[in-house]
Amino acid sequence: MRLFVFSFLFFLSFSLNAEIMRVTILGSGTPRPDIKRFSQSILVEAGEQKLLFDSGRGTVIRLNQMNVDIAKVQSIFFTHLHSDHILGFPDLLLTGWIYRRNEILNIYGPKGIGGYVKNIKKAYQEDIHIRTQTPESLDIKGLRTKINVIEEGLIYNQDDVKVFAIEVDHGGGVNHAYAYKIIYKNKAVLISGDTNYSENLVKAAKNVDLLIHEIASAPKNLISKSEKVKGIMNYHTTPIEMSKVINQSQPKFVVLNHVLLLGGISESDVLNEIEKNLTTSTPIKIAFDLMAIDLSNKINVYSVDYTK
Ligand SMILES: [Zn+2]
Ligand SMILES: [Zn+2]
Repeated sequence: MRLFVFSFLFFLSFSLNAEIMRVTILGSGTPRPDIKRFSQSILVEAGEQKLLFDSGRGTVIRLNQMNVDIAKVQSIFFTHLHSDHILGFPDLLLTGWIYRRNEILNIYGPKGIGGYVKNIKKAYQEDIHIRTQTPESLDIKGLRTKINVIEEGLIYNQDDVKVFAIEVDHGGGVNHAYAYKIIYKNKAVLISGDTNYSENLVKAAKNVDLLIHEIASAPKNLISKSEKVKGIMNYHTTPIEMSKVINQSQPKFVVLNHVLLLGGISESDVLNEIEKNLTTSTPIKIAFDLMAIDLSNKINVYSVDYTK
């Protein structure tokens, strides 16, 4: 009888979870080396699927901290090819292979993604050769990848999960940068990637359940005296621009990610500046590494750092 009750409960919790889309911020930072904020990667779990959006520094470590089997990540979507969004990929590819990935790894990204993946495999050819021989004898099949060079539109459609790519404006010589919109059952999440204010993004983000958007801020005097800081702010979204994005797209919940705060600007300074110009009452949170957001009837935010 007890066994029956336990199996029933297990079944119940499993089927409830299958209805929930869970988004986890694995890395909430920028290129800056920071133990608290690894560079960008975001895991989306929907049903049985585990989709990774960017693979910045330390992706594998963060997945391990939340008890996710790295070999189970089936698809990776890159927003653009800046190093802070792709540094963790060789680790995921090769360590996932050592930990017995046996499915093909699907990779989606802008023009240039094919060359990047091919050259990573080439750079590690000695290691790959050694590990396929005895005593390890790893199966080379675990390193198979399928490259999908994306353009704007529907790029993924599998078992109730749809992913759309949306062109954004990252400036600074980056010609191919995308946001991604993920739809599972009746919930929608939009991940901005790196971008300046983008009208195209605003259109796609209309009424989404969760908008994960990058943010950058620096004091006015620093922007006016430093060409470099001015340039950086032009490639990213400032608090005033963020208010405009939220006012126009009216998402139900906002998480600010890729947190770039210069010259002593604090997280509460950023929130105050955004909220000052808001015409909506949208809740806004600043991301932290291993922040999980469950999307069901209501939004639940919690930490999945199980190493603490
Ligand atoms: Zn970038
Ligand atoms: Zn970046």
